[in-house]
Amino acid sequence: MPIKTKTNILATLGPSSASKEVIEKLIDAGADAFRFNFSHGTHDEHKERYNIVRKLAKEKGRHITLIADMQGPKLRVGEFKEDKVMLIEGQKFLLDMDKELGDVKRVTLPHPEIFQAVKTGDHLLLNDGNIRLLVEKHDKTHIWTKVEVGGALSSHKGVNLPNITLPISAITAKDKKDIDFALKLGFDWISLSFIQKADDVREARSIIGDKALIISKLEKPSAIAELDEIVKLSDGIMVARGDLGVECPIQQVPVLQKRIVSCCRKYARPVIIATQMLESMISNPTPTRAEASDVATAVYDGADTVMLSAESAAGRYPVEAVQMMNNIITEVEADPLFYKLMDGARQEHHCCEGESDSITFAASEISSVLKNVSAIVTFSSSGLTTFLTSRERPRLPILAITPEEKIACRLGLAWGVDSFVNKKIFASFDKFEEEAVKLAVKSGYAKSGEHIIITAGFPLGKKGRTNMLHTVYIP
Ligand code: PGA
Ligand code: MN
Repeated sequence: MPIKTKTNILATLGPSSASKEVIEKLIDAGADAFRFNFSHGTHDEHKERYNIVRKLAKEKGRHITLIADMQGPKLRVGEFKEDKVMLIEGQKFLLDMDKELGDVKRVTLPHPEIFQAVKTGDHLLLNDGNIRLLVEKHDKTHIWTKVEVGGALSSHKGVNLPNITLPISAITAKDKKDIDFALKLGFDWISLSFIQKADDVREARSIIGDKALIISKLEKPSAIAELDEIVKLSDGIMVARGDLGVECPIQQVPVLQKRIVSCCRKYARPVIIATQMLESMISNPTPTRAEASDVATAVYDGADTVMLSAESAAGRYPVEAVQMMNNIITEVEADPLFYKLMDGARQEHHCCEGESDSITFAASEISSVLKNVSAIVTFSSSGLTTFLTSRERPRLPILAITPEEKIACRLGLAWGVDSFVNKKIFASFDKFEEEAVKLAVKSGYAKSGEHIIITAGFPLGKKGRTNMLHTVYIP
């Protein structure tokens, strides 16, 4: 069955979506990819969910994309005795290095660097910036604060220090263990939090190699300063609006979202828009109008993928949230304005940069000139040809034929792509045309009397090159 929408849905798994029943419903409602948040949960829990998804994907004949999202040097408070505490404006609150569970008066802050770097008069922002603490006094193991803006606080909530630079690496000891675990299990993508500079991505690559693709989460002003280089070095990008909106003035978030999406399009890197997309659906069965508009805006901006966080991980309506996203995306993609915006955002200089780009650009051009053409079939052994074709945002569906399941799963974050694994085609040079037609017809994308467009790198199976463009008429 042809894919439902071109823009992909990425749902975060968590306690609300840990069972096989719920995960299956999420897939059926339109989830193309799942994020495993390594800031929460144990390796055993992740492994169990991983196996559930892989098994379901196999049963359904789908290539579901799995992302292991690293906590990174995200600063978080420790654990509380109760589910949550309520901090009231004006009260005192202590952060310390004691191991004891927290309460309304104190909590552990397991980051010695903060105690070294903090100064009286600094602000600590907790829980996505919702709570503001003023530092009144500090020593090597205590920070005594006054609550300036109160609110509910629970275990492991984030701490941001907007004006303090901490001398910490982008990949923590915990991340190294988690990456090792995730690679052994077979995750398709690894996402890295709090990338501050291009060198952080280089460091990640030296650890991950080609075992998985790398997503840089953009949530620090210093990363925005090196945007082009970070995008080029990464395989994909996440606009991590949660921390981005705490670290930068919140009014810059929509502007940065557009700038980042456009930069990703320039370098043909899939981009995910994340955080608070349907936030109120954590507790309500329908979103606010503003949230519906936000998802639509991300799609109109040209995002490859939109993400659900707590809505699917910890909310009451995980399935409804995926359904709602799917409904909004469907509506936007049916709007004639949508493709006008996609065409308008095509960047002049990206065509004919090199052999591969010019072929995929031309394939997209042909798709709007040729009559009765129904699909672009890309033969891709590394995913490159397909990512480049997706970047053009053609009106036609993009079919990816790849020899490896792993590549098909990686492609799940790319806009407009439906992947198929077929090792045999890659071995038989002379049959590629016939096989492409067979596949397009069998999967419901093309029929007799129509054309398909084929792009590939010859020799088939040699990675990193697209040099062939072909049109085929189906008699
Ligand atoms: P997080 O990342 O949920 O892991 O913090 C997303 C964001 O910051 O928006
Ligand atoms: Mn974040």
